[in-house]
Amino acid sequence: MDFVEDCLFCKIAAGQLPSKILYQDQDIVAFADIHPQAQHHVLIIPRRHISSMADLTIEEGPLLTQIFVTAQQIAQDLNIDQTGYRMVTNAGPHSGQAVFHLHFHLLGGEQLGSFGRAGR
Ligand code: AMP
Ligand code: ZN
Repeated sequence: MDFVEDCLFCKIAAGQLPSKILYQDQDIVAFADIHPQAQHHVLIIPRRHISSMADLTIEEGPLLTQIFVTAQQIAQDLNIDQTGYRMVTNAGPHSGQAVFHLHFHLLGGEQLGSFGRAGR
């Protein structure tokens, strides 16, 4: 699937919804999260619609590498490459996934909390 009509992130990737874009190329878009959970909170998505990591196959290996290398580059641009950062992706109800277009949260710019069970 390439473009899903009622998908928020397909619309952002297509420029049909406004966003603060930090990086884009023919395969990937990176933009600021609208409700930042850290000083820097960037979402990195493939342009192509994939619902979550649960739908990935081995074929997406190069795309995933591109996403991680893009994250390195963005971390350098934001000057957080030395202080450190985190990449997170949610899949399914227990993770709290709210937008069903694969996205990686890139978080940094301050000390991050631990993660795991809710409320800890
Ligand atoms: P998740 O819970 O992993 O599905 O994360 C969805 C993320 O998308 C949340 O961090 C939201 O703050 C973010 N978000 C929702 N709508 C927008 C938007 N229009 N522009 C930027 N980020 C958004
Ligand atoms: Zn989509």
